[in-house]
Amino acid sequence: MKIRCECGGIIVDQTDSLPYKGHLISDQDWFDFLDAIDRAIEKSGPTDKDKERAAMSIRRLAVHLTKLIYQCTNCGRLYVTNEEEELETFQNLKPFEGKSILASDSGKNQK
Ligand SMILES: [Zn+2]
Repeated sequence: MKIRCECGGIIVDQTDSLPYKGHLISDQDWFDFLDAIDRAIEKSGPTDKDKERAAMSIRRLAVHLTKLIYQCTNCGRLYVTNEEEELETFQNLKPFEGKSILASDSGKNQK
């Protein structure tokens, strides 16, 4: 997937571990999600198949509960998927200084 930013920049989403992409979860869903992880760990069952089924259930829930968020590396605008899987745009009022707000702690030095 490619997003053409309003500034003319292109946001490319064709691989994993992107420093300008994130997965956003509502605070209203956060603790339910953590509880589901706890249940999967504590009550998944004894077999490898039970554990695999619990892990896949958590992955499906994570995809269901999260919205995608992207930051243009050129201007800093944010794009967030909405309920209709469309992108909504958010722009900082301050000039963009090139700092990614979505890079992971371990990936801050990656481009
Ligand atoms: Zn841009």
